Amino acid sequence: MNIINLQDKNLYYIGGVVRDKILGLESFDVDITYEGNAIEFAKSIPDAKIIQINESFGTVRINSDGKEIDIASTRNETYPQKGHLPVVENIGCSLKKDVLRRDFTINSLAQSTLTGEIIDYTGGLDDIKTKTLRVLHDESFIDDPTRIVRCLKFSVRFGFEPDEHTKQLQDKYLQNVNYDMSYKRLKKELIETFNLNSQKAFEKFVTEKIYKLLTQADFKLPDINFENLIKKYQPKNVWIIYAGILPDIQKLPLTKTEKNIIDDFYSLREKSYSNDFEIYKNFKGVNIESIIMFAIYEKEIVEHYLDNLSQIELAISGNDLQELGIEPSNKYQKCFDYVLKEKLNNPKTDKSAEIKLAKEYFGII
Ligand code: ATP
Repeated sequence: MNIINLQDKNLYYIGGVVRDKILGLESFDVDITYEGNAIEFAKSIPDAKIIQINESFGTVRINSDGKEIDIASTRNETYPQKGHLPVVENIGCSLKKDVLRRDFTINSLAQSTLTGEIIDYTGGLDDIKTKTLRVLHDESFIDDPTRIVRCLKFSVRFGFEPDEHTKQLQDKYLQNVNYDMSYKRLKKELIETFNLNSQKAFEKFVTEKIYKLLTQADFKLPDINFENLIKKYQPKNVWIIYAGILPDIQKLPLTKTEKNIIDDFYSLREKSYSNDFEIYKNFKGVNIESIIMFAIYEKEIVEHYLDNLSQIELAISGNDLQELGIEPSNKYQKCFDYVLKEKLNNPKTDKSAEIKLAKEYFGII
């Protein structure tokens, strides 16, 4: 079945989309490649409107029958600087050469848009059948170490496992990581992997020492199940919870929000949690992600806060104190803390009871 309305003997579905079709899964994005020059091909399609051309990558975006389609020219890639973006070479090369630059055999299949025939130069079809992740050559992880994280991602998504040789190459690379790499690419793969919220993926990430891509430090698997905590408390930013507890996480190009989450997590470690009042004061207003991360140190306290304390709010405000005839001053905060301590003991305390407590604090009869 064709996903796009274009057909040509040189036009192929390629990579993940073919894999997903075979697995009966829906694809996030559909990669199309033209064996030859895609830009020239696009110009020759009678009803297609060209939207964007990238000459140096040989890619083109067209609108055909109201649908936007990206078409890439077949190309080769080399890695003169290992671990960094590849250099594009040989635009318009053979389909076979294009396929051989890819990460795993299961991602190296092509399917003709014209005949539907699957072109399998690397044994990808067999590897899909046997649920195997296999690199295409021994330098694969040296060229691009982010493929190690991709391997983990696909193993979680599809329940596939790397074959023994691929696993050996991975272990070998992780014993001798070249830290001069593109951390932007590594971050992208970590986001996609950890956003799957899989405890199993995290455990593999640690026990197989994949975290060594980020840091030379040693890191032990924390005794925590983030997957369950994340399911229960539904934080927005899932990946940072897993990644943010790793040493040297700052090596990744982090956004301001991500940096805040990590800073908050570090600050939580500096505080004491000997009673509900301290717990509440230290956690209130802090990112949920940082609080969940802190569960690696104080799981019970985190759960107690999130389950029992976090919803507690004072009903009284400064206006209520003013109505009691109290002039605004730093005593307001002390009074709120006094009322809060009581309310944490007895969450059913309502507004009138809070006002009573405030009066008690100020000695008003
Ligand atoms: P997803 O469903 O996550 O999009 P995908 O396989 O389509 O999976 P993409 O990251 O969109 O993944 O990449 C598209 C294709 O490009 C892959 O199927 C693979 O052939 C190739 N590719 C992607 N990343 C790499 C890489 N780091 N090294 C080599 N080839 C890659």
